[in-house]
Amino acid sequence: MIPPAVCWVRVALDVPLPGPFDYRSEAPVAIGLRVIVPFGRRKLIGVVVDNPAEPSYDPKQIRPIEEVLDDLPPFDEAWLRLARFAADYYQRPLGEVMLPTLPPPLRKPTAYQGKRSAGGPVARLDGRKRKAARAPAAADEPPALNDAQRTAVDTIGALDSFKPVLLHGVTGSGKTEVYLRAAEKVLAAGRQVLLMVPEINLTPQLEGALRARLEALVGSDGLAVMHSGLSDGERLQAWTRAQRGQARMLLGTRMSIFAPMTELGLIVVDEEHDASYKQQDGLRYSARDLAVWRAHDLGIPVVLGSATPSLETWQHAERGRYLRLSLPGRARASSLPSMRLVDTRRLQMKQGMSPQLLDAIGQRLERKEQSLIFLNRRGYSPVLHCQSCAWVSNCPRCTAFTVLHRTEGRGHRLQCHHCGYQAPVPRACPECGDQDLAPMGRGTQRVEEHLAELFPEARILRIDADSTRRKGSAEALFASVHAGEVDILVGTQMVAKGHDFARLGLVGVLNADSMLFAHDFRAPERLFAQLMQVAGRAGRHQGNGEVLIQTNYPEQPVYQALLRHDYAGFARHALHERESTGLPPFVYQALLTAEARELKVAQEFLERARALPEGEWAADFPGLDAIMLYDPVPLRVLRVANIERAQLLAESSSRPALQAFLASWSHHLPYLANEARVRWQLEVDPLEI
Ligand code: ADP
Ligand code: ZN
Ligand code: ZN
Repeated sequence: MIPPAVCWVRVALDVPLPGPFDYRSEAPVAIGLRVIVPFGRRKLIGVVVDNPAEPSYDPKQIRPIEEVLDDLPPFDEAWLRLARFAADYYQRPLGEVMLPTLPPPLRKPTAYQGKRSAGGPVARLDGRKRKAARAPAAADEPPALNDAQRTAVDTIGALDSFKPVLLHGVTGSGKTEVYLRAAEKVLAAGRQVLLMVPEINLTPQLEGALRARLEALVGSDGLAVMHSGLSDGERLQAWTRAQRGQARMLLGTRMSIFAPMTELGLIVVDEEHDASYKQQDGLRYSARDLAVWRAHDLGIPVVLGSATPSLETWQHAERGRYLRLSLPGRARASSLPSMRLVDTRRLQMKQGMSPQLLDAIGQRLERKEQSLIFLNRRGYSPVLHCQSCAWVSNCPRCTAFTVLHRTEGRGHRLQCHHCGYQAPVPRACPECGDQDLAPMGRGTQRVEEHLAELFPEARILRIDADSTRRKGSAEALFASVHAGEVDILVGTQMVAKGHDFARLGLVGVLNADSMLFAHDFRAPERLFAQLMQVAGRAGRHQGNGEVLIQTNYPEQPVYQALLRHDYAGFARHALHERESTGLPPFVYQALLTAEARELKVAQEFLERARALPEGEWAADFPGLDAIMLYDPVPLRVLRVANIERAQLLAESSSRPALQAFLASWSHHLPYLANEARVRWQLEVDPLEI
């Protein structure tokens, strides 16, 4: 008798072990399909990544696949290549990269089991009536392109293979129009387009514009949106529509880089410098960098747009690796806003606001124009202190102050922004019993309060993470600004980005200096980008915009470059500095972070990790001379939620050398970490050090 045929199936699973794992099956299972398999005592969904001729361990121990899920077409080779690249580059097991990119219903075995699962989540989705697409805004006539836009559109349209394009356009220069025209051409040729944006709160306005413009081309169902604010069902729908090619254009945040589009013809990354393209937990990937890789892999163009490109991208353009296209002027208003530095050193300030700023707000109010007051600090005040002794409000679980917040209906409370700890405001000082506790410094809530006292007739609105917590509230608040129901807008970086406010004339910046001396070497770059962005909200439609930046250090190069709207000058200065001090983009970095109850334990683990390449495993680390390993140091915020943290920086002037080192290192680290009982993570190309 012939034994029944056995097919070996290699499956990527989301477990913290190297993997992938071998299973048996009676019939072949196509690569790219999802399967349900037993793993220990659990059942897991995994993705088939190989059909090996022989299994990699003892066939007797290999268990059969439980179910092949064919409710979606198999993921194609290109998608699998992307996941493999991300796993290799970021030093994580393939399954830990691949599975978390799927919408949750596609990776939950329970969604397929039991009577009520009715064929799984995809089948149920098809059964359900699709929610009617949002009605498109009335399509305005598309504007006639100006010369710079025309050149950009033509140049991008003529590209028929991989070429990263840096679209460097000042704020309000009409980059969106360029994306749209480039997308139209690709869509008309029957290919799909991926347009990535940094944040969800930007998508409603853009989504409306895209629908209005592209509906004729792709149909009312041809646009899908993907971001973390969606329900599981909505996300699943966007994913399946993208994979089946029903969605021709996908608008999304960083997660959309993993959307399994099979006919991709163009990727656009708007505000490419934005830090939200970097995932900060789990797989710490850069969606911008993966976009460039994916475009390279597919042989298609990728457009990176920004008024203040990351220095990495700018350096590529300087060296000719990226094609630079410039939009030097504003599309509507003829002029950029005028920038003014207000030297606050000798000024009589009113609640953190200079007479110049208050005067400027008053003038805009008279002219029925809007003002935006920007400060990157939410809450009422960053710390509470005792005026008699040295007591300040500290979080008991973190090395951080608790922030004073005004809460709806419950008066003031203290909150920790690191761990979420909350406490009532003490009636008297816990140290000396004095009752003179006072807020020190100011956040958005306090500024809002003072503005209301100073301008009682003005309609004031605050937009920050606190005022927009409920689903849909950010959208509603922004809509009221657009509708002209607001005179003074107070906000954090949430309001700085992307928005095209028609009536906004004045921007005032309150605590810029606090970012100037941050420890991170990228602080000036971030400050420049953020201030350019927020300044770019002023005078977009009528011109006549004005920006006042309050500072104690007006002579700083960052501020001087801002005055001239001189990104190129700033970049030249900053790149020169980075080169002479040996910092990215002239070197490549990876950061090993360890967490433990006690700093000592974390530090010891890092010391051992640092010594590892020189010990008994030295043979695993050839080319060590090209790698610099720094001393382990505690994090600036040492303790969060009673866990203490330290980090170790690895650096090299050669990316391949660093990659080879990291591959060996991350192979050994789990054993060290197990012995030391620490949690650890390795981040490649860290943004913050
Ligand atoms: P950016 O993204 O570069 O900051 P936007 O794409 O938001 O700028 O464009 C700014 C404004 O200019 C928008 O209101 C847009 O509709 C308008 N606009 C874009 N291109 C043109 C053009 N060629 N003529 C007139 N207005 C334009
Ligand atoms: Zn006291
Ligand atoms: Zn805390």
